[in-house]
Amino acid sequence: MKKLIAKVFRDNTKLICDVGEIGGLFTDSTSLESFLQKTVEMIAQHMNSQVCSIYLYNEEQRDLTLSATKGLNQEHIGQLRLKLGEGLTGLALKELRVIEERCASQNPNFKCVENLGEEQYESFLAVPIFRGATKIGAIVIQNKNKAYFSANDEQALRAITSQLANTIEMTRLFMSINEQKKPSTDKTVAFDSKFLKGQVGSPGFAFAQAIVLENDLLRLEEKVSQSKRVYSLAEFQKALRTTEIQLEFFQKNVEEKLSDVASLIFSAQILMLKDQSFYQSIVKLVEQGMNPPKAIMVIVDDYVQKFQKIDNAYLREKSQDVRDIGRRLVSNLLGDSEDLGKYNQCIVISREMLPSEVLKLSSQRIKGLVLLSGGTTSHVSILAQSLQIPLIIVDEPKLINLPELTSVLMDAQEGNIYIDPSKDIKHTYEEKEKLRERASHSKGKIKGCTRSRDGLRIQLMANINLLGDLQYARDVKADGIGLYRTEFPFIVRSDFPSEEEQYVIYQRLTEGMKGKEITFRTLDIGGDKVLSYFESHVKENNPFLGMRSIRFSLRHEEIFSQQIRAILRAGYKSDLRIMFPMISSIDEFVSARNIVDKCLKQLKDLNIKHHSQPKIGMMIELPAVVQIMEELALEADFFSIGTNDFIQYMLAVDRTNEKVSDLYLPEHPAILRALKIIVSTANKHQKDISICGDMAHQKQFLSYFLGVGIKKLSLNPAYIPEVQEVIESININEAEEQSRKLLTVSKLSEMKKMIINKG
Ligand code: PEP
Ligand code: MG
Repeated sequence: MKKLIAKVFRDNTKLICDVGEIGGLFTDSTSLESFLQKTVEMIAQHMNSQVCSIYLYNEEQRDLTLSATKGLNQEHIGQLRLKLGEGLTGLALKELRVIEERCASQNPNFKCVENLGEEQYESFLAVPIFRGATKIGAIVIQNKNKAYFSANDEQALRAITSQLANTIEMTRLFMSINEQKKPSTDKTVAFDSKFLKGQVGSPGFAFAQAIVLENDLLRLEEKVSQSKRVYSLAEFQKALRTTEIQLEFFQKNVEEKLSDVASLIFSAQILMLKDQSFYQSIVKLVEQGMNPPKAIMVIVDDYVQKFQKIDNAYLREKSQDVRDIGRRLVSNLLGDSEDLGKYNQCIVISREMLPSEVLKLSSQRIKGLVLLSGGTTSHVSILAQSLQIPLIIVDEPKLINLPELTSVLMDAQEGNIYIDPSKDIKHTYEEKEKLRERASHSKGKIKGCTRSRDGLRIQLMANINLLGDLQYARDVKADGIGLYRTEFPFIVRSDFPSEEEQYVIYQRLTEGMKGKEITFRTLDIGGDKVLSYFESHVKENNPFLGMRSIRFSLRHEEIFSQQIRAILRAGYKSDLRIMFPMISSIDEFVSARNIVDKCLKQLKDLNIKHHSQPKIGMMIELPAVVQIMEELALEADFFSIGTNDFIQYMLAVDRTNEKVSDLYLPEHPAILRALKIIVSTANKHQKDISICGDMAHQKQFLSYFLGVGIKKLSLNPAYIPEVQEVIESININEAEEQSRKLLTVSKLSEMKKMIINKG
């Protein structure tokens, strides 16, 4: 009889809850935790169940935390964590389905947690909380009596859950924000993973202490709030001056090393320090009695908020600079001697990074970089390669919680990250490193002329991103420059470089490679290389499909013409080639070439020294080109295949998105077959053809390339020695035979096997 009453009562739950009890729960609660606690008590009561618990999902950690419970051991609140898919509750959320068990402990997914007090409750009903695809958590009710819950209960709990979902989601977000405000400074907290596998963005090796960029400011905030000392206005002014000197030092440092791209990258920060309204706002607060470190924090925060609201990406980006200034100023005021080289000799971990930030960090001599997002062919990776900073991209949000100064070993040859590595691991890597160093000293032995085993001459050209790469290209006796990515000086500046500025940079390139072929690729911005100072580059939904590359140049003829004139002038007396990126049609190619012709005429009319007959070619990066190769071969003087983009567009896989990196497959049969068509057509028309994307240095493809008729590769000069070695072992007849076989393969799995066997 009692059970029957309970059942009838439970049938009415939906009605009871609809009456508005839920709304009151939130306003009555003094904290988020107490809101959740009241919620579980209310549900337990209405559902007449002995246990009700709420688990909240943390997207970054991909786990659920027991956040409130009626009936289970409350000591587990905030402590018990289940991975997504773990236990019946984790499974309910993972698969976004209701799980009802009449005898929970019999289910193989049941997870027994010690001391939780759950074993006695055999009837189990879990309802996931979610909105669209966003996972929020799960509500679980349990009862001692087996087979206690009915279909009506399920319906009722679903109804309650859907009413509560929004409020719980808000709660979850608030709780996670509060959690983020308390970065862990406890070095004894062990990071639960010792080894992480990521992708190599820039090769190398580093062993150093790590700093998580995002937590740095929070840590300082904590320090400020704990500090009892009162500082004077004079001390603040002294800190201001010290900060200025530091920034000027960094600027000088970076200018010396990277004159082409580093122009004034710290200028925004130096200017900000000199800004009177920034200074006066802090002084005003200090005069009103606020301790200077706190006053700096308040004003910096205010500026950051203001910057972030601005509808201009360039200024928004500056909020990072403001934060950085705040950090420096406060550190200097507090007498943190650390700051002059805060990141010096450290491995920096960050969620994401802009090219200009990579440069700033390189001026502080960081040892390595671990990013949680991005792609290995993204331009941050390309820049890190030129700066010789090892970079690994790893999709592991937990790294953000890594305690400060934890030792990290990066094997950015393989993409391995070891947290707090054991002596053995360290030793193994030190040995490997010694070997590598020895190998790099042997680069002096490299031959200036690369031939296959049977004597076919293969040209190995260098890809140059920064002028700093030139020396390396010369050291490894590159046959010339097959790709100079002209955009880097554009990306990190605060405005377009003038024709004169470009001329000076380009001239250093042509002089650095005198007598050898040099290919200037015209401006290739857009995609992941946004010019933040250029308004119309703001907010594109699909930047890789947007105003990118040659499209930008054709749309902004004045900017394009300035660049072309600078190239033609700098290329006077050089073996000069101009190459257009991302060409999609014959018309586009012809339009771009017409602009070169116009520039040639202008320079001639003005009697300015310039190269009068540069070769004009194009990159092959779009699938569309494959179909019009024959006609393009009649127009263009040469071609270079940019496999980084070609793969991205052929397979519709964003090259900068680590979430789909497993789908970015150079060995895809469609890619290999398309390459064959492109190369054969170019060769048929006797047009020079090369490969300049990252595939050019991937050893497993070299024999295929030679087999389909490639005789020129352009690659990061660091890879030239090993690529030369592989090429010297290849026999062209055998390579042709092998590539014919590969061209018959249509299945990815089979292709992978064949390619790996050869790698
Ligand atoms: C490419 O797309 O392969 C290429 C070489 O150009 P980038 O990597 O600069 O886009
Ligand atoms: Mg490209």
